[in-house]
Amino acid sequence: MGVLVVTGGSRGIGAAICELAAARGYDVVVNYSGDPAPAEEVAERVRSHGGQALAHRADVSDEQQVSDLFSAAAELGPLVGVVNNAGVTGNTPGRLDEQSAETVRRVLDINVTGVFLCCREAVRRLSTRHGGSGGGIVNISSTASRTGSAGEWVHYAASKAAVNTLSFGLAQEVADEGIRVNVVSPGLVETGLHAAAGMPDRPERFSAVIPLRRAGQPEEIAAAVLWLLSPEASFTVGAVLEVGGGR
Ligand code: NAP
Repeated sequence: MGVLVVTGGSRGIGAAICELAAARGYDVVVNYSGDPAPAEEVAERVRSHGGQALAHRADVSDEQQVSDLFSAAAELGPLVGVVNNAGVTGNTPGRLDEQSAETVRRVLDINVTGVFLCCREAVRRLSTRHGGSGGGIVNISSTASRTGSAGEWVHYAASKAAVNTLSFGLAQEVADEGIRVNVVSPGLVETGLHAAAGMPDRPERFSAVIPLRRAGQPEEIAAAVLWLLSPEASFTVGAVLEVGGGR
């Protein structure tokens, strides 16, 4: 089936995407930037589905490391898709007037520049214009891009709005070069992201304002991603698919 690169594949939503991709027959590159142990565990679960897996450390905001990530992926086999899932909030919830420039720069660097760099590498390899055979790109945004995340992380919300716009523009650039670019925009999902920001009770606290009255599970986001990558979504280009339980 070919190789799928999943950035931030070691935990949370990314790990669920890696596992479902493996179940659907992909070989998977599990990218991460910190602790190798969870990435190796995800790679092992991918292999248990019969596919090849590679856990590869690369900070998606670093141009050289992103280039090396895609070179490593090429050693596994032909690239067929990329899921740009790696993303951070900055871990300092609060109003905009309380945020440091350093936090904002880091969030934009990972969430926006990181997506740009990985999309660029993907297009250079997948596009028929560059001799490739086409493929799929799914970028992970957030419903924060629409709600604005006032009082928590406006900079994060803005970074995800940038992901939506980048994806929509790129989708139009490469649609007739064999690449379908789409976005999955999750609502509140139960992962370690909330505890890392010092708010472990956040999924429970916000459940009341979600029409389904609960946070989502990583597997429910993964299902949308794998659908967008599949031939079933053959006419879906530049879409922002919200998966947020109604909010
Ligand atoms: P998570 O549990 O915190 O996992 C984040 C993943 O990204 C980890 O594998 C992490 O591994 C990796 N990562 C972080 N910085 C990286 C970098 N610079 N380069 C490469 N990998 C990096 O997060 P999550 O909740 O699953 O979120 C995944 C995506 O969904 C993010 O884009 C997030 O913004 C979006 N999202 C999440 C929610 C939610 O409620 N959870 C809602 C909407 C959207 P290392 O720490 O080892 O680098």
